[in-house]
Amino acid sequence: MELLECGHAAVTGPSRVCEHMLVEESPDFYRVLTGSGVRYDVVCAECVEKPLLTVCEGCAERAEDWGDSLGWKGTPEIRLEDRFVAGTVRSESWDVQPLNGRCLAPLPRGWLALTESGLVDQAGFTCEVVLPVAHGKKPLLALHTSADGRYAAVGVDYGSQAIVLDLSTKAVVLEVDRGAYHVEWTPYPIAFLPGDRVVAATKWNRLDVFALPSGELLTDRESEGPFFHGRLTPSPGGRWVLNDRWVWGPAGLPHVVDLEAGLRDGGVQLAQRWYAWDQPVAWVSDDVVAVQRLGEDDELMIDGVGLYAMPAGRRVGAFAGPAGLMWGHKGLLYVVGAEGLEVWDSERGARIGLVQGFRPIAHRDGTFVSINDGVLDSFSVD
Ligand SMILES: [Zn+2]
Ligand SMILES: [Zn+2]
Repeated sequence: MELLECGHAAVTGPSRVCEHMLVEESPDFYRVLTGSGVRYDVVCAECVEKPLLTVCEGCAERAEDWGDSLGWKGTPEIRLEDRFVAGTVRSESWDVQPLNGRCLAPLPRGWLALTESGLVDQAGFTCEVVLPVAHGKKPLLALHTSADGRYAAVGVDYGSQAIVLDLSTKAVVLEVDRGAYHVEWTPYPIAFLPGDRVVAATKWNRLDVFALPSGELLTDRESEGPFFHGRLTPSPGGRWVLNDRWVWGPAGLPHVVDLEAGLRDGGVQLAQRWYAWDQPVAWVSDDVVAVQRLGEDDELMIDGVGLYAMPAGRRVGAFAGPAGLMWGHKGLLYVVGAEGLEVWDSERGARIGLVQGFRPIAHRDGTFVSINDGVLDSFSVD
């Protein structure tokens, strides 16, 4: 091990720094991207473009401890290695108009749409829905379905209420209301879990689990925290659920709970980001989740994803590029970008394909769909 410029004989850290970052109470700093992936140097305002020091891991880490980030400089490397995306394209007529892009959801063998005349599937099933009241500043109805297709939930994103329907009886089996306190900042927190259960917000700062179809409350009433719960994204295996929550500051605190340990076990916080939450997230595998946007402040972010591994919630990777609606499937990330459906290899941090011009709004097990003017277009990856 060589002696580094910080004076330590240790492993070289990921960032170079200016000399001012090595002192106690170090100043605010820029993160200067080096052009290799999302690697960056930590540099005070006076030292931008000056020679930097190669330092150890500990010194690189401590450089960012005291001061605040002033933002990014330079540009990240976006790895584009597009090749042919093997898959099957289909178009079929289906004369429905979902109320918005959040109102199409998967069924085991097809799709369910929430339309002006209620729920409709491709086989002719219909179910009238008395919609939850969509008040609030920017309410948006959103449709969710259980993996087995028996249940559907209609929630008011950025609103107060949600309902769960048993599609086998067309009955409403659960109604939940989280009140009105700052609900305009988050989608309605609701998600189906394995074993005929649903988790949903019952207050701005409380989640509960209910059995279906009985609606029986399965969680006990314990203390409520300071967190405003946000969109819930369960892992494919159903063990983890990411809660894209926030707290006064305000700061986004994406958080993962282990459902095997119960909702109240504490879980792990993945990051803290000022003014930043409600960004696309997706599970790459059963234990690794991708969260979009890199940085610690809404105004100082770069497009990309951070990868976090359970159970510790440690960040295990990051790369620049992805921005838009996102799903995970078989270790790859699928992102609706400016040019179409992008395929990203999360291990290599590279875009490996683009389905030009295709902008799906829903996904099930490798099949992506959009619906326009009575035509359902789908792309199924091989
Ligand atoms: Zn400096
Ligand atoms: Zn050092």
